[in-house]
Amino acid sequence: MTRGQLRQTLEFYRDLGVSDLYWAPVTEPPPPASGPHLPPPPDVQETLLPLAPSGDTLEKIQQDIGPDCRRCRLCEQRSKIVFGVGNPQARLVFVGEGPGADEDAQGIPFVGRAGQLLTQMVDNTAAREGIPIRRADVYICNVVKCRPPENRTPLPDEMEICGEFLFRELMAIRPKAIVALGSTAAKALLGTKEGVTRLRGQWRKWRDIPLIVTYHPSYLLRPYNQNAKREAWEDLKKALHFVYD
Ligand code: URA
Repeated sequence: MTRGQLRQTLEFYRDLGVSDLYWAPVTEPPPPASGPHLPPPPDVQETLLPLAPSGDTLEKIQQDIGPDCRRCRLCEQRSKIVFGVGNPQARLVFVGEGPGADEDAQGIPFVGRAGQLLTQMVDNTAAREGIPIRRADVYICNVVKCRPPENRTPLPDEMEICGEFLFRELMAIRPKAIVALGSTAAKALLGTKEGVTRLRGQWRKWRDIPLIVTYHPSYLLRPYNQNAKREAWEDLKKALHFVYD
């Protein structure tokens, strides 16, 4: 970790109100935290139904999208189609809104500032909670695979067209849980217009897969969002413990 990354990490935890620091050996992470401050395991666990595997694969889905998808107007200004990245057998999937400028240039989701914050949140929270995973162990994708001009919110028809591929990705991976980052992902997966502030932190379902909504990392990057950062951290801990405990 560079000095800059270390500073960012420390600032992130300071904003969450964490003031104590512990050194934990890398090979022996501390046991998972437990106690009254942790949320009870969601009852959705009992109702998880095993569905037949779809037989679909991420490679096939990417092939079906094709190298020069022109199914919607987002193709006109994009540089690269940004398919999901991570472990094809991930137990946890994060779904964002759509690529920004950095993602459009590199063809990889969540690599810009918001992406760096997401990476820090996953890596640091997992380490702190004694959960031996890192960003590369989860799967990260977006509702739309092409950057909307000026980073505008994807339009309903764009979400519908690209949503077909998102749903196939989720069915191919069949994670134990999904984290919807922000209102576009929540809308695409839950079909609701309710805001993130109301939806966040509670277990819902996408088909038979438990889903939790939390704030989009771009929102957390705005100043004066300390409370949202703390809530997002709680949501992430909840998801990580549900999936990996
Ligand atoms: N915001 C998103 O929703 N997705 C990305 O990949 C980057 C930023």
